[in-house]
Amino acid sequence: MIIDIHGHYTTAPKALEEWRNRQIAGIKDSALMPKASELKISDDELRETIESNQLKKMKERGSDLTIFSPRASFMAHHIGDFNVSSTWAAICNELCHRVAQLFPDNFIGAAMLPQSPGVDPKSCIPELEKCVREYGFVGINLNPDPSGGHWTSPPLYDRHWYPIYEKMVEYKIPAMIHVSTSCNACFHTTGAHYINADTTAFMQLIQGDLFKDFPDLKFVIPHGGGAAPYHWGRYRGLAQELKKPLLKDHLLNNVFFDTCVYHQPGIDLLTKVIPVENILFASEMIGAVKGIDPETGHNYDDTKRYIEATLNLSAEERYKVYEGNARRAYPRLDAALKNKGR
Ligand SMILES: [Zn+2]
Repeated sequence: MIIDIHGHYTTAPKALEEWRNRQIAGIKDSALMPKASELKISDDELRETIESNQLKKMKERGSDLTIFSPRASFMAHHIGDFNVSSTWAAICNELCHRVAQLFPDNFIGAAMLPQSPGVDPKSCIPELEKCVREYGFVGINLNPDPSGGHWTSPPLYDRHWYPIYEKMVEYKIPAMIHVSTSCNACFHTTGAHYINADTTAFMQLIQGDLFKDFPDLKFVIPHGGGAAPYHWGRYRGLAQELKKPLLKDHLLNNVFFDTCVYHQPGIDLLTKVIPVENILFASEMIGAVKGIDPETGHNYDDTKRYIEATLNLSAEERYKVYEGNARRAYPRLDAALKNKGR
């Protein structure tokens, strides 16, 4: 099987964005605030947006199953208060759940959380529980910076986040560390803020001792781990300066990197530097970089081509990247697949 662990519903029907715009208008003028029930999207509309986009590309490129979460840049946790985020997260998660029900062989859900700047992460737990227990979701996206580029939350090793981690361990779900839209003009959302956040999260994990408290906690750092693999010597050296264990003992039992790196040399570097056990196949297709690379004639986000072409992986190692590691990182995914004899 080929499991893409990083997909978002970037192609949701326009009605979703229109509802969200009304919700944002309703923050200033409560008379304009729409009810959740005013958003009406039919199964046929959901089917159409998936069949002509993600599913079509999955078939063309040869992947079988996508872990599917709400559009990351639309999470925008900095907008409004907890109630605004809570209603919005519930709507977006439910749509991903409906997609997974319509296409049970091809999609399985991961949740966005109703985070809000300055609000205790504990407030996210009811939505998390609903998504795991009722929807069968297998992971969450955790935003380390709900302020959208101003970094007002404590670092990921801080006890501030522990209520979420306790639930993750209880339910055996990993978190992809994933920021949302930047509202800081200095940081382009997908070109700077995303990659900064991946790198920042990795360094925070080096600085802390989080996995001493949570030996079973698992994180996925997306977009190839930001700058971490490219600067692996720097991070090994910093861990040494900070008197931390070797990175393989300090972090690599708990941290995975995905393959959302959009060119061959990047994947060659990732697969050379990072142990194969820590790499998860992903494309984040129809996401930040939708174009065709004139140097190859293929879509930048057609990442399977780079995994196939790299000389660093044997057939058995490719199996780990495509499937085996995902089953380890996402135990509920493994269980759901085994239930279906897959
Ligand atoms: Zn993403």
